[in-house]
Formats: sequence, C-alpha cells, structure tokens
Amino acid sequence: MLRIALPNKGRLSEEVRELFNDAGLEVRVRGERALTASLGGEFEAIFVRAQDIPEFVADGAADAGVTGWDLVCESGRDLEHLMDLEFGRCRLVVAAREDSGIQKLEDIQSGVRVASSFTRLTEEFFTRRGQKITVVPVSGATEIAPHLGIADIIVDLTSTGSTLKMNGLREVGTIVQSSARLIARKNHAPEAAAKLEELRQALGSVLAARDKRYLMANVPRTALSGVREVLPGLNGPTVVEVQGGDFVAVHAVVPARTIYRTINALRALGCQGILVTRIERLMP
Ligand code: AMP
Repeated sequence: MLRIALPNKGRLSEEVRELFNDAGLEVRVRGERALTASLGGEFEAIFVRAQDIPEFVADGAADAGVTGWDLVCESGRDLEHLMDLEFGRCRLVVAAREDSGIQKLEDIQSGVRVASSFTRLTEEFFTRRGQKITVVPVSGATEIAPHLGIADIIVDLTSTGSTLKMNGLREVGTIVQSSARLIARKNHAPEAAAKLEELRQALGSVLAARDKRYLMANVPRTALSGVREVLPGLNGPTVVEVQGGDFVAVHAVVPARTIYRTINALRALGCQGILVTRIERLMP
C-alpha cells in the first residue's frame, strides 16, 4: 500500500480530489473529518496541510504527495518531482508600495525589511542577488505589512495580482513560478517506483484529456480533403465508410479551446450530424 499525502483544505484540496476521482482513485472518506481515506486498492491518502506535505514525504510518513511547488521549494527538502498537475498556478513575487518609488528589484536598498511567510526563499533570493535584507516572518495577510510599518516590502503568492493591487502594492519581481506538483521521496523501493509510475500515468491521462474533445461528423466524400485540414486530430482523423452513401463518418480528437471554430468550419464544408463529447482519459 502506497501512502499519498494530499492537502486537507485550502486552495488545492478540491482540485486534487477531483483529479484523483477522475483518474479512478476515488477518495472514500470515512466521516467528515477523516484523516485518511482509501484510494482504490493500492493507494491510501492521508490529508494534511499543504505546507506540511514536503516534510511528510521527505521524512517517509508518506511515499508521495501533491502540493504547491512554492511549498516544495520553501521546504528546501530534496524530493523527486514526478509531475506538474497544471492547476494552482501562482507566482511568488516581490511587491512594494505603489508610493514607495521602488519600480524594479535594483531599486531595493540594502537593509530593507521584507515581510513573508516564505522566509527561506526570500532570504535565499536576496542573498543570491547580493542584497542585504531583514526577513520579517508572518503567517498570513502579508500584504498589509508595509501599511502597518512592520516591513518595507513583501514576498507573497499571487495569481492574478488583484489582491496586491487592491492593497496598493506593485509587483517588482518574481522568485518562483508555481503550480500543484506530484512529488515523491527520493530513492524509493523498485515496487514503489512501479506503482508511482502507474499513478503518474493515471493522473497524466486525465490531465491530457481535459483540454481535448472527441468529435464525430458525417462528411460528404467530396469535402474530405477540406475536412482533413480542419481536423488534424492526434494522428489525423479516423475515416469510417458509411455503407452505400455519399458520406463518410469522421472521428477526431480536437482542442476544446477552438471547438466552436472547428464546428463552424465543418458546417461550412457541408458536414452533418456533428457530435462532440468529453474524453475521460487520453493515453497517446
Ligand atoms: P492554501 O492552502 O490555500 O494556503 O494554499 C496552498 C497553495 O495553493 C499555495 O502554496 C500555492 O501553491 C497555491 N496557490 C494557488 N493560487 C494561489 C494564490 N493566488 N494565492 C496563494 N496561493 C495559491
């Protein structure tokens, strides 16, 4: 049984559960506040704080885990990075008050006080740049620190930048680009490695399918070459003979993002019976 540490609450928890459910690893929780859950036959989930997951995995309390890359970097632990799950995107940024005159990182004077809950990454970043700073550790609401006079600038997570703006702060540099990652302990046993690879493929096939759609259409035989240009598909469309007719059936995997444009182009070519469905998993 492999134990996987998953975030128990916060921004990542919902999407992580949804991903595991979609991959057939249904999270079966016993009771509202359960700390563990069965995840299919071969995996067990433990629910802990996203911040604690790098430590738990590195120390062997769990074999693998899902958490933000920012938290993995902040932990400083040597972990194996298995996969980018592509959600929970955010950046760890340096921000200063809009009225501070700090426009870029070079404007930051030695001796400034930097409020952050990412104390290790903050220290490391400014040391590498040769700028002497003092870290003011905070555990939340970092963006108000410059207004309270306890720090001059901050290092905090943002995705759209709107919370920073709302608090009169300007982004002046990026320290880490983050998203949710599947991580594992280094040097695990070969049996564990095989199971982790299965897990990686199961999650990967769900992620690969999310931005794709399966499209079917009846195509006039005469329009087939035009349709091939509209529907490159994964390996070109599958063309199926329709008995005794002037039409053939075409199946293809297409990007979800441009599906309206694809449908319009097919209709313009005389296609009929266009059907679009979601794909649960995709293993190219
Ligand atoms: P939480 O448990 O809600 O404090 O957040 C845990 C993780 O969610 C963070 O460490 C980031 O990896 C991720 N995250 C994604 N978007 C954001 C955002 N806009 N602000 C903060 N954290 C974010």
